[in-house]
Amino acid sequence: MITRTLQKIADMCGGTLGSAADPELEISGVITDSRKITSGCLFVPLAGDHFDGHDYSAAALTAGAGATLWQRDKGAAPEGAVILVEDTLAALQRMAAAYLSETGAQVVGITGSNGKTTTKDIVTSLLEGQYKVHKTQGNFNNHIGLPLTVLSMSEDTEIAVLEMGMSARGEIALLASLAAPDVAVITNIGESHLLQLGSRKEIARAKLEIAEGLKPGGLLIYNGDEPLLAEVMAEAAFQAPEGMQSVRFGFAADNDVYPTGMMTHIGGMTFTTVYVAEERAFTLPLPGRHNVSNALAAFAVARHYGVSEANIEEGLKRLKLTGMRIEVIVTASGLTLLNDAYNASPTSMKAAIDVLQSMKTDGKRVAVLGDMLELGPEEADFHREIGGYLDPALTDLVFTYGPLSAFLAEAAVKSFGPERVSAFTDKAELSAALNSQCSSKDIVLFKASRGMRLEETLNSLNEHF
Ligand code: ATP
Ligand code: MG
Repeated sequence: MITRTLQKIADMCGGTLGSAADPELEISGVITDSRKITSGCLFVPLAGDHFDGHDYSAAALTAGAGATLWQRDKGAAPEGAVILVEDTLAALQRMAAAYLSETGAQVVGITGSNGKTTTKDIVTSLLEGQYKVHKTQGNFNNHIGLPLTVLSMSEDTEIAVLEMGMSARGEIALLASLAAPDVAVITNIGESHLLQLGSRKEIARAKLEIAEGLKPGGLLIYNGDEPLLAEVMAEAAFQAPEGMQSVRFGFAADNDVYPTGMMTHIGGMTFTTVYVAEERAFTLPLPGRHNVSNALAAFAVARHYGVSEANIEEGLKRLKLTGMRIEVIVTASGLTLLNDAYNASPTSMKAAIDVLQSMKTDGKRVAVLGDMLELGPEEADFHREIGGYLDPALTDLVFTYGPLSAFLAEAAVKSFGPERVSAFTDKAELSAALNSQCSSKDIVLFKASRGMRLEETLNSLNEHF
């Protein structure tokens, strides 16, 4: 984590020291949550919708913070070690940008509609055998999370792997201006945030802000199966940095990196990556075709940094992912549950259905699908599309949960018939139906937006079987 004198920190964030502050005081770490103060840290009060961190600055100092930032328009600052700034959020961001460039760490920025966290985790795992790597924890990928991620990294970090999230135009541009990437990855273009952005092309423009923010001569690694990315890069408004290099990954054989001989096993995938004239066998301990795509992007990053074959192999074995992303759970009686209830959009819903439908079983394949939220005026159609995407030859039973998913059920009935599709709006009724219709040989997928809390139903099935 950042360790600097108070004077140096004030310089980094463009602030001035309060009259009672000791410029030589050593500060270690930056914290925005007053309940998590550590001794000698800098407390950064941020103003949210429901609270203002400035109300907690004095308490943070009492609790052991070395100093606090203070926004000038917030009235009189508390006594003691205070740095006065115009805007605490902007100061936090400036400090992170300054720290990152002082460490001299390489930056890998990862964006895309789906698969950012997964790709970040795979990239980190592949690089770790050869470099000192720091990665975004959990999902700290926005204008506050990214600076905090940077400030928590150790001074001797060689490569920072940063997830960059967005919900509107300009947000990735801001993150890329704070942490100018040497390597940028765009995992895919999906439909998340369609409501805010209006079209998939506009989503592609928003993601490509990461390429515009690359350092001169930087490398863009992008999904070559998505034609919109190339289309947007051909637009006059797209400003590539000088000397930008690019690598395209995807399933089509005209990409720079693509897989061959892909096979699904319980708990993972095997395939061979083809990269320029080079072929390597991969065993990925994650299910799903979409994770092969994420691994290809990660592989391109690792190749760029010269990671050896042995370290790539070790890295894949070490892979640990952030929870609830197609987690495979086998219950006491042997029922297989696929927990992908972390979130959902049409693209990730299809990816999860692909996983279910490609898994081998002597029992039934059961899809339990809940509402996908925040999709805008065409939400009903998106749900109908998923209903049509389900293959009645590969999925045995479909259960839906929530009012939007009723459209999904309605579309699925057309190919499955009414006996194999059941729609629910009550979780107790859904659980009861699953408990009576599933057996211990089955595989059951759970997928819905976070707000639907579909893991509650999964847990009840786990207890029953
Ligand atoms: P968030 O926007 O919530 O941070 P994220 O982009 O970090 O999401 P992950 O957390 O890696 O994405 O994965 C979220 C969901 O997207 C998972 O349910 C997974 O099944 C699906 N997913 C992951 N990678 C891909 C991909 N390349 N294409 C389509 N779907 C994917
Ligand atoms: Mg994420």
